[in-house]
Amino acid sequence: MKLGVSGFNVGKRSRIEPLDYLAIRSEFETLKSIGGLVDELIFTECALGEELTEEMAKKGLLLYPTISEMKRIGQIAKEVGVEIGGHASFLVNFASPNIKKRSASRGHLTALCKRLAAAKGVYGVTHLGFLGGYKEEEVKAIVEDELGKILNSTEVQLLVENSGKRKAVGSLQFVVDLAEDLGVKICLDWAHLHAYTRGGIRSEGDVVKVVDLIESRLGRFDEWVPVMHISGIKYGASGEIEHLGLQESDFNWYAVIKVLTESGINGILICESPKRWNGDLELLKKAILGEEVKVRKTAQRSIMDWIKEGK
Ligand SMILES: [Zn+2]
Repeated sequence: MKLGVSGFNVGKRSRIEPLDYLAIRSEFETLKSIGGLVDELIFTECALGEELTEEMAKKGLLLYPTISEMKRIGQIAKEVGVEIGGHASFLVNFASPNIKKRSASRGHLTALCKRLAAAKGVYGVTHLGFLGGYKEEEVKAIVEDELGKILNSTEVQLLVENSGKRKAVGSLQFVVDLAEDLGVKICLDWAHLHAYTRGGIRSEGDVVKVVDLIESRLGRFDEWVPVMHISGIKYGASGEIEHLGLQESDFNWYAVIKVLTESGINGILICESPKRWNGDLELLKKAILGEEVKVRKTAQRSIMDWIKEGK
């Protein structure tokens, strides 16, 4: 299994602002020194267009880096010996009733894939969008139609990620349906799955059930799930609230690593923990190598627990 990290935020505030190549190189080198091999570049705040309007800047949005900047990032990655992935903009919403927003969503994925191709990136991953009051089965046709249009034209392998929030599109069932219908592969975020199911991943048995479900519906797990995300997570009645450090939630990340390594599952495991540079990457590395790891299970309580107790 290749270990990676949710990496450099490559957006820019203006066309003339240069990227900080020194910082990018140093991130790649730090990652490599820990034993990590994949840097999933963050394009999540990126907006389409040549300039940011004041309103966009206020929202914290950024511009995409240029193709030549991406080529340079690709060169640096090659020199250091790491691979590149990329996370699509959070503005992607394939379930929007607004046709313009859906076509802009395709624009984001095209922009992402072009940049990843320039950097010789190995995959891109995207969320699907928001339900906006509809049910998943009601937006399925529209999401499949939009995604189908883009999948044939991308130069880089595009993956769909399961959601941690219940108001977003992307239950495990939904992404497996997409994989079955369109042949698109999955980026499985284990922490999202734990949050979406409000505490569903607590034991090795829970992990095995997920692996079995994917294998029975699609085929070999690592063929259909080439990339996974992992972190701790805080959740409530409506799913994900925020990502946490690995040791700071009741998500049993160690059970995930144990089942994956013992089953000989390959693929890329991206650490999305806010503590990824402060111990969590090393912790994952140790666990993958089968070294002794002290697992601290914080008794995080979900909102449902409180409701059940009538507090
Ligand atoms: Zn994720």
